[in-house]
Amino acid sequence: MTAELICVGTELLLGNILNTNAAFISEKCAMLGLSMYYQSVVGDNQGRLEELLNTARHRSDVIILCGGLGPTQDDLTKETAAKVMGKPLTEDAQAHKDIEEFMARRGRSITENNWKQAMVPEGCKVLYNPNGTAPGIIMEEGGTCVILLPGPPNELVPMFEEQVCPYLQDRQPDIICSKMVKLCGIGESSAETKIIDLIEQQTNPTVAPYAKTGEVHLRITAKAESEEEAYRMIVPVEEELQKRFGSLIYTDDPQVTLEMAVHELLKKHNLTVTTAESCTGGLVAGRLINVPGISAYLREGYITYSNEAKEKLLGVLPETLRLHGAVSPQTAEEMAAGGAKAAGADLCIAVTGIAGPDGGTEEKPVGLVYMSCYCRGKLYTEKNQYTGSRSKIREYSVASALTLLRKAILSTFGEVDVCG
Ligand code: AMP
Ligand code: MG
Repeated sequence: MTAELICVGTELLLGNILNTNAAFISEKCAMLGLSMYYQSVVGDNQGRLEELLNTARHRSDVIILCGGLGPTQDDLTKETAAKVMGKPLTEDAQAHKDIEEFMARRGRSITENNWKQAMVPEGCKVLYNPNGTAPGIIMEEGGTCVILLPGPPNELVPMFEEQVCPYLQDRQPDIICSKMVKLCGIGESSAETKIIDLIEQQTNPTVAPYAKTGEVHLRITAKAESEEEAYRMIVPVEEELQKRFGSLIYTDDPQVTLEMAVHELLKKHNLTVTTAESCTGGLVAGRLINVPGISAYLREGYITYSNEAKEKLLGVLPETLRLHGAVSPQTAEEMAAGGAKAAGADLCIAVTGIAGPDGGTEEKPVGLVYMSCYCRGKLYTEKNQYTGSRSKIREYSVASALTLLRKAILSTFGEVDVCG
């Protein structure tokens, strides 16, 4: 089955709002096994929308429209779609009642134009909307299915998940399942190079890399008649990825983040951790604190932005700072060892670098970041050179710091294989 998406709204054309509905719907359709070949954005203009719909109905099985279902004059998606599909509008009693109740719950008075939203194309399936006043609509006509959805994401998302997905799943014989294998400590191009043969050979299942800040995610997707069959097809591909990437893989669970994977390791080995941050200024601690339950392992962290703070809180030697500078492997190591000692922790991850835009030199350019992880008496130290804005450099540093923390634990406890 082929699908096509039309997002309606002049505000989208003007760049006033980000088209997040398109990203959401595209991903859902891909997971449902629909082939999406076209997407368009059109303003609130009846003639142009009509033209687009007439083109779409001749090339796609399912046409999804979002936006323009509001009560005002410029909202004309439903009227236009009904006209193109040759369906007159009639009032839906349930939708009428829902609007009354929705407005009463909010203590808002109903205006005459609200009743426009209770009008639906004859013979359609109405998707009731508990989060707003515009019902969604599914119209079927001569093998084409047109689905109308309200624009606000807080209304569209639950309606799609609860009502549209089951509907499309029923019409689509094949189902799509996928797994997300997440890697850290490797760049996208190296990751792709390691599996280029798999990517080139693939038909079903497929493997696709997605670059994230400091991480690479590989999605394995299989199409089959049942969920069990699809997951059975994914197993050998995942085993192959495991062979090639080893301990660079930190999870195959889409819900698990890098900081959650670090938390699992701290828990497994019963290790306490602290942070000693200069250029990341608390962001590493912040990422760790995203994880509920981290309080048993992270009790305190240090933001030591100035040289004085590095000396006072972490015991970095003045000679080290004078001889090598604040951004140096020596300082990073003294920060890590000193932080662990000051906090009485098993581990300390330390970061010091030049986030820019000023402060770079030829010898130490903007984006140069040293990090060191102290783990039970051993130091693991890395030099990184990033490019980009101040915030991008800091974000990359945080991802690398979490990756180094993970690597230090794995190495200390003998869990790193050849790939890590
Ligand atoms: P509408 O149904 O066209 O009146 O849209 C109502 C509101 O929904 C807009 O003001 C936006 O805030 C939001 N919205 C509409 N279309 C989109 C879209 N494609 N992506 C994200 N938000 C949207
Ligand atoms: Mg609109």
